[in-house]
Amino acid sequence: MIDLLLVRSNPLIRIMLCFDQFLMILIIPLFICEIGTLSFCLENIQVNFEGKVPESQIIQAKHMIVHELGHILGIHVELFKFFRDSFGNPLTQRPFNLTMAECVDGERRPVIMPSCSTLRLHKEITGLAYYEVVTPTVRQVVRNHFDCQVLRGARLENQPKSKMNCFGTNWDQRLFLMEAMSSPALATDFYLSPLSLALLEDSGWYHVNYTSHHVKTNPFGHGAGCDFVVKPCLLERGLTVPRYSKNYFCNDPLKFTSLGK
Ligand SMILES: [Zn+2]
Repeated sequence: MIDLLLVRSNPLIRIMLCFDQFLMILIIPLFICEIGTLSFCLENIQVNFEGKVPESQIIQAKHMIVHELGHILGIHVELFKFFRDSFGNPLTQRPFNLTMAECVDGERRPVIMPSCSTLRLHKEITGLAYYEVVTPTVRQVVRNHFDCQVLRGARLENQPKSKMNCFGTNWDQRLFLMEAMSSPALATDFYLSPLSLALLEDSGWYHVNYTSHHVKTNPFGHGAGCDFVVKPCLLERGLTVPRYSKNYFCNDPLKFTSLGK
């Protein structure tokens, strides 16, 4: 059994592996919020007729573990305000103050706003709000990924699941499909890319190894140019696939029968 619990009434994250190994991460009492949780129960794992766990389930479980651990290590909006520069100085002014912020759901709420050198609000032409991570390494990695040297940062999702989440936590799936820290999806391919490592590096808490064999370039949108990022994925009310979207988006939705085929 693998069990990872966030104990809400106690500022302690406990990871328990097979009941004989423990990794404990202590966090300060200010956090009484969910950063990431994992819970796997052997009873709920389906086995095939050979008594083995299907490879697809194992792969999916690995993806979820990487994603949630990514949040716990620092890729979470509740942790951005604690980021530090390379000299160890806080990026967000201390002590923290509540300020009225425009949230991606359109509401204004009092929140502790991470520094503008970490997170910035932007709006689409339609008025839809979203936030971008603008830390230096993240900015350079995202510019290199799309081959667009004018990008300000990497966009976060603007459809967070929780009302408590004002800014978004996962990378935006429209731009970063299949990235390990994008909104969880059932994509078969999965890439722990330099983008997520760049954010961990910019937290000021880690040195990261971009040459690790676990780190892979996400092919989605790789080298696709600025238009891919800033223009709509489809034009003419979804009828036309522009040149920059070819091989990434389609205007012919897949149709499934009631049997899923
Ligand atoms: Zn997530």
